[in-house]
Amino acid sequence: MSYDIAVIPGDGIGNEVVDATESLMVDLAADYGVDIQTTEFDWGSERYLEEGALMPEDGLGTLEDFDSILLGAVGHPEVPDHVTLRNLRLPITKGFNQHICKRPSYLFEGVESPLRGYSGGDIDLVVYRQNTEGEYADVGGREHQGFQNEVAVQSAVYTREGTEAIVRAAFEAATERSGKLTNITKSNAQAYGMVFWDEVVEEIGEEYPDVTVERLLVDAGSMDFVRRPDEFDVVVASNLFGDILTDIGGIISGSLGIAPSTNINPSGEYPSMFEPVHGSAFDIMGEGIANPVGMLLSMSLMFEHLEEEDIAEALWNGVGDQLADPEAPRTPDIGGNATTLDVAGDLESRLL
Ligand code: ATP
Ligand code: MG
Repeated sequence: MSYDIAVIPGDGIGNEVVDATESLMVDLAADYGVDIQTTEFDWGSERYLEEGALMPEDGLGTLEDFDSILLGAVGHPEVPDHVTLRNLRLPITKGFNQHICKRPSYLFEGVESPLRGYSGGDIDLVVYRQNTEGEYADVGGREHQGFQNEVAVQSAVYTREGTEAIVRAAFEAATERSGKLTNITKSNAQAYGMVFWDEVVEEIGEEYPDVTVERLLVDAGSMDFVRRPDEFDVVVASNLFGDILTDIGGIISGSLGIAPSTNINPSGEYPSMFEPVHGSAFDIMGEGIANPVGMLLSMSLMFEHLEEEDIAEALWNGVGDQLADPEAPRTPDIGGNATTLDVAGDLESRLL
């Protein structure tokens, strides 16, 4: 098999984690007889500061023919976050109908959770976040700016296609895992969009009689992510709530630096995109201490999506074995003093 992968290292530590892991990914795949061709794109905030756009106008056309996209991170202190989001991530996720953002939170053996009493394997949940609409729909407007009667409107949009896609993916995952799905909304306060969402969950649920559905409001759900994360298995949530819940999921699993993320186009018509949950983290940029695990696990999820299960598993288990080994190098965010390159190099010597 052979795959063409578009690589967008992006900004800040995005570059560092991609640089440290890209050859490992290619070489590991080669060991399994899989040929990976990578093409790098220098899109991101530096390009915006020089040319006024994070990616070229025909960016989507350029990416369309690739089998998958790997993204490091985008974000820059001199570029407003909404500009970064609206100029790169949203055009890609929306343009390629990447309705599904799947984010596992897994507490690895050897990694310390800030939650008391939790150790390796105790936290093993996966959040299915709607990825193309909801509160990120970019619908709204502002009037009378600077005056006392100023108004800002921000609408959330829930389409049947976008909602069904994420809900179906979550039910499928629940079927493959423990058969439990938690639907997290705020339907008491969001009476149109989220009541519709709940109805879709009920409708699609009828096709999955073996899955037990639990319903939680997001305030209680956030509390329970901290109080009893071991009781969650598959969670489905809107774009904004999924974003917030997965940051909690990341930190209770030890560090934002180890959490992987996916942006999946369910029809397979367009490429899907894989990236760590963390951002560009300019506070540690250039120090060479960014944890590469989030990127590595995202690569594992990419191989899983490409149905290269053996490579996906080798990479995931390799990272797991390394984290479980008290002698192995680890970055400061998880209590070590090693560099990004130390960690990647050690993993190479374990896997290749
Ligand atoms: P962005 O604006 O792109 O979201 P950010 O500055 O908000 O970036 P995040 O990546 O969201 O930063 O991370 C928040 C904090 O978590 C960072 O300031 C950093 O210290 C820490 N962090 C994030 N990712 C990693 C990583 N891979 N390794 C080590 N620490 C990390
Ligand atoms: Mg951030």
